[in-house]
Amino acid sequence: MESVDCIVAGAGVVGLAVARALALAGREVLVLEAAEGIGTETSSRNSEVIHAGIYYPAGSLMARFCVAGRRALYAYCDERGVPYRNCGKLIVATSAEEDARLADIKRRAEANGVEGMRVLSQAEAVALEPNLTCTSALLSPATGIIDSHAYMLALQGDAENAGAVCVFHSPVVGARATGGRIAVSVGGEDPMTLACNLFVNSAGLHAPSLARRVIGMPADRIPTAYYAKGNYFTLTGRSPFSRLIYPVPVPGGLGVHLTIDLGGQARFGPDVEWVDTLDYSVDPARASSFYAAVRRYWPALQDGQIQPGYAGIRPKIVPKGAPAQDFVVQGPQSHGVPGLINLFGIESPGLTASLAIAAHVRDVSETG
Ligand SMILES: Cc1cc2nc3c(=O)[nH]c(=O)nc-3n(C[C@H](O)[C@H](O)[C@H](O)COP(=O)(O)OP(=O)(O)OC[C@H]3O[C@@H](n4cnc5c(N)ncnc54)[C@H](O)[C@@H]3O)c2cc1C
Repeated sequence: MESVDCIVAGAGVVGLAVARALALAGREVLVLEAAEGIGTETSSRNSEVIHAGIYYPAGSLMARFCVAGRRALYAYCDERGVPYRNCGKLIVATSAEEDARLADIKRRAEANGVEGMRVLSQAEAVALEPNLTCTSALLSPATGIIDSHAYMLALQGDAENAGAVCVFHSPVVGARATGGRIAVSVGGEDPMTLACNLFVNSAGLHAPSLARRVIGMPADRIPTAYYAKGNYFTLTGRSPFSRLIYPVPVPGGLGVHLTIDLGGQARFGPDVEWVDTLDYSVDPARASSFYAAVRRYWPALQDGQIQPGYAGIRPKIVPKGAPAQDFVVQGPQSHGVPGLINLFGIESPGLTASLAIAAHVRDVSETG
């Protein structure tokens, strides 16, 4: 059986960042991707926001990796010429009850190490964004937007320059842990089995089902996958705002917010729709709830001004109604299988956190 030092399953933003970190640490890396290219699933179906790290519970992996990952990401974009804009974001309150919640959000953000958070009066917020209707707002200057595909190409380039190899149309169909190594079965046109010292399961939405196909992996350590779809609607015409505009968060998501891409196109979303299958179509009928949500902070939105855009699916590992789940980076200390690292529940802010997740995976691979 042929062998390679490390295999990473999945060439989304996290798998690519992990491959880069391992290759830069001097390890031999093979990335196996089921699809025809990089980032065809969740990594190309998100808001492309560089999150500041505001909402996550203090000390959680999400909080730590978002803040560290965001700082590393801005520096990386500068170094590698990846397009981004540090445009900032406003969390807008539209009632006295929401006004009161902004102070709590600011406190949580500061506990996470987020820089520059500032509560603005209605007049201050409207001075920044004249089309906004609000009672007060919280400014997050550290938030930004990124060209996520250019970012993934830069990660792939770095990984390959450091000797990593990415192969496509190469799904991992199963694996077996034996004698401290992992034998990985690859499907596709040229099925084969490869032995490796380190197998990183970075298969996103499919990570739990892939873990279930690793013989030797204890079944009780594998979470059930749940899918929470996020639908986006795009706005016709120019964006009325130059910063990202978020309502005060709702359970399960951040509320129907406005994000802008680097081309100036504005989109609303994602909403939260729990689904059983990976269907990315956007039901035009969902527009009605978007109009209602958006008009709370932008009453000038006209009927017919938003169209179905695209959707992404959050790789949840807890069902609807359960408390939010942190990222899970599961190494041998947790499941007992030498050489196996599973990444579960890498939903938002996984794009922002990718460099920090990758550094952590590299460390876990060294320490077990
Ligand atoms: C609606 C939405 C909005 C979001 N917005 C943001 C945001 O603004 N900012 C932010 O920081 N984060 C955001 N996120 C989160 C972010 O997009 C994800 O955390 C990140 O893209 C996850 O990357 P990944 O590499 O883990 O997964 P993926 O991108 O899903 O990659 C997994 C890869 O594994 C491959 N694969 C699957 N099974 C196999 C197999 N058996 N063998 C080989 N390959 C396999 C797939 O083809 C895929 O390419 C958002 C997520 C969603 C759903």
